[in-house]
Amino acid sequence: MLSLTPSQIEQLITHAQTCYPEECCGLLLGQNKIVREIWPTENTWTLAFSQAMPELLPQNPQSQSRHDRFAIAPATILKAQKYARAQDLAIIGIYHSHPDHAAIPSEYDRAIAWDIYSYLILSVHQRRVADYRSWQLDGDRQFQEEPIQIQHLDSEFLQ
Ligand SMILES: [Zn+2]
Repeated sequence: MLSLTPSQIEQLITHAQTCYPEECCGLLLGQNKIVREIWPTENTWTLAFSQAMPELLPQNPQSQSRHDRFAIAPATILKAQKYARAQDLAIIGIYHSHPDHAAIPSEYDRAIAWDIYSYLILSVHQRRVADYRSWQLDGDRQFQEEPIQIQHLDSEFLQ
């Protein structure tokens, strides 16, 4: 179960709608599946990124774009990691949006996923977030959905 506050959800929705029709992406900082901070990142996906692992991506490379691919620069992840550690937090998840697609992980998402993270996906239809769901890899590297819990508003003031 992944826990977020209403204002964090609002932040994710705004980011996803602003980036439409491209995918947005970012990191979830927190501890024990409780999100404490949203860390939006730039979508740095380029064709070269997919070409680096062709065995995982049999699709026609020309059909890929930031409409259906995302990548977070390693330097950005390191920076977020350092920031999180300084506050006794960690990166606990990665979020991204699916413009005009369901909030279900793609084969590409599975190929680049780490089993330690939650993967929150927001489905955006015509610039509006229609759905969001969270996923985590199981021992067989298959995504299993995990429930999202919305924290009570006052828990935001207890930190
Ligand atoms: Zn995806």
